[in-house]
Parts: sequence; C-alpha cells; structure tokens
Amino acid sequence: MENIFLLFSVFYFPFMKGNLIIISSPSGGGKGTLIKEVLKTTSNIGYSVSYTTRAMRDGEENEHDYFFVSREKFENLIEQNEFLEYAVVHDNFYGTSKTQVSKDINNGRDVILEIDVQGAENIMHDFAEAVSIFILPPTFEILKARLTARATETHENLALRLKNSFGEVQKYQEFQYIVINDDRLQATNDLRTIILAERLKRVRQTGAIQDILDSFDISKFNTVGD
Ligand code: 5GP
Repeated sequence: MENIFLLFSVFYFPFMKGNLIIISSPSGGGKGTLIKEVLKTTSNIGYSVSYTTRAMRDGEENEHDYFFVSREKFENLIEQNEFLEYAVVHDNFYGTSKTQVSKDINNGRDVILEIDVQGAENIMHDFAEAVSIFILPPTFEILKARLTARATETHENLALRLKNSFGEVQKYQEFQYIVINDDRLQATNDLRTIILAERLKRVRQTGAIQDILDSFDISKFNTVGD
C-alpha cells in the first residue's frame, strides 16, 4: 500500500527535495504566531498560502494570509484539480494549492502547510514522507482565553471553533511531533528544531553523502602518504 502513496507523491513532486511540513492545531492554538517566528528566522523555507471562502479579517491581506475567493471560484478550483487537499473547516472551505507547493518543494525549499486536522490526514495519506507537527495549547482554558482575546470571530463562530477543538486535540496521536505552546519562545525553538533536524536525516542528505564517499577512493590511496 505504501508503494501506492510513494508513486502518488513521485508523480506530483518527481524531484521532491524540500520537506513538506504539516502544522496543525485547534483554532487559537497559536500556530500562526509560531510559524511567523520560524519563517523569520529560518532559511530556505516557504509558506503555502491557502485558498479560503471565509471572510477576510481586519488586518489580513489577500494573497498574503489567504487567497480569499467565492464559493463558486473555490468549486471551480476543485474541478480544475488545483488542490493538494481541501476541507470544510468551521463552516468554510479551505484548500492547499498544488501549484504553489510543488514550485517550492521542487526547488529544494521546505514548505509549511498550516492546515486543519482533516487536511493533515489527507496529506499524510498521500505523502508518506511529509513531516507532521501538532501544536497543543497548555489547557483548554488557555485556548479559550486566547481565542476570545483575539476577537476575530463572531460569537457563533467562536463557539463552533471551541466545540471543534475537543475533537481536534484527540487527533494528536496521528502526528509525528508535538509542540506544547505554553511559553512562546520555547515553542518557537521547538518548532525550528524539528524543521532543522528533519533536514539532517540520512535520506535527506543522499546527494551530499555520495559526494563525500566518492572522495574516499581506495584505488587512489597511497599507504606511504603524500
Ligand atoms: P482560520 O479561519 O482561523 O484562518 O483557519 C481555520 C482553520 O483552517 C485552521 O485550523 C487552519 O489551519 C485551517 N486551514 C487553513 N488553510 C487550510 C487549508 O488549505 N486546508 C485545510 N484543510 N485547512 C486549512
């Protein structure tokens, strides 16, 4: 079965050089802030700007935070097979652009996908080699306080997001890494550490390793030394 997934990912990303990094958390888990910090302080990493049908918030920018589109446009993009994954989250559509992600990955850049747990499950299913990270708030009360203080949602949507968080946190078991977002600085460092350590995996360094090994040519070895 795994071979099928591998074939799928090779088809989309034939020269997958960068890592596909999935980051999920319940709404208010603080992943956006941590990701911004990591993007500022880490080289060779991009961010996948998703498409969404939700309304733009104050302070958000089209094409920077999201591509804000109508439901009709979103459905057209589904038909055109433009999404790596998409899902309905808290009553709105959200989707990851295949075009954007493949450009970065094939150029050897890591790409962060800030997506919900349904999207994360789909990407993990299709791309076995993706790196998955779940951000947990320290407690439900803190999550609620953060989301309420953010004051970006209507009363109904805030309630929906809090209700959905109960199911979302239970999905932590599907992720490879857990970052507990209690102290922001610590959590940012944890996130960056995971991303950097993933780059050092043996399978990620085969090209560089081969060049080194090629220099160990025993036929040119002079026992007398020179
Ligand atoms: P918000 O409305 O707060 O920006 O995002 C709501 C949720 O949708 C968050 O959990 C966010 O990570 C998720 N989300 C954002 N973009 C995508 C996407 O492209 N696909 C999926 N599945 N979820 C997304």
